[in-house]
Amino acid sequence: MMLTAAVMHAAQQHAAQMIAASGIVVTREELERIEVSDFGLSHLDVEGAQILTLFATHRVSAKIIALFGGQTLPEHCHTAFEQDAGKEETLRLVAGSLCLYLPGEDNMRVGHLPAGKEMCYTVKHEVVLLPGAQITLQPHTKHWFQAGEQGAVLYSFSSCARDILDTFTDPNIVRTTIVEAVPL
Ligand code: ZN
Repeated sequence: MMLTAAVMHAAQQHAAQMIAASGIVVTREELERIEVSDFGLSHLDVEGAQILTLFATHRVSAKIIALFGGQTLPEHCHTAFEQDAGKEETLRLVAGSLCLYLPGEDNMRVGHLPAGKEMCYTVKHEVVLLPGAQITLQPHTKHWFQAGEQGAVLYSFSSCARDILDTFTDPNIVRTTIVEAVPL
C-alpha cells in the first residue's frame, strides 16, 4: 500500500509539465510542492490525483488538480462537520477533458469504471467538461471524475477544505499517501 519515491517524483514532474502547458501561471516553488495522492490504493495511474494547493484559508481554498490520461479521482462527498455545512466545490476545467459523475440517471458513455471497482462507484450521471466549463457541487453531493485520454488540468475552488473529512465510497481509501522508504 505505498508508492516509491521515484514514482512520486515522476508523477510530480509530469503534473508540473501539464500545469505549465495549460497556461496557468505558477511559480517553480509551487510546482515543487504538488502533492501526489494514490489514496492509499497503490495504483496511481488508475486511481489518484496530483494536487497543488494555491491557498487554503479558514474559509476558502483554491487548488489546481492535474490528472493523467484516464486517471480517476475516486468517488467521495463532502460531509458536514460541527458548524460547517460541508464543503461547496466548484470545478473548472482549464485543459484536456474531464468526465464528471454525479447522482442522477446513468448515462455513462465516454468514461469507464476502474476495473474491478464497480462497488466503489455508485453515481453514474456523466457530464463531460471541456476547457472553460465549470460546475458547482453542493455539499453532500457524491461525485468522482476521470480525465480523458489527454489528461486534465482543472481548478477546484471550495469553501474551507477539510479533505481529511471527505467520505469516500471505497472503504480501502486512506487520504494519506505513504511513500516507501528507500534505503540509501
Ligand atoms: Zn470533491
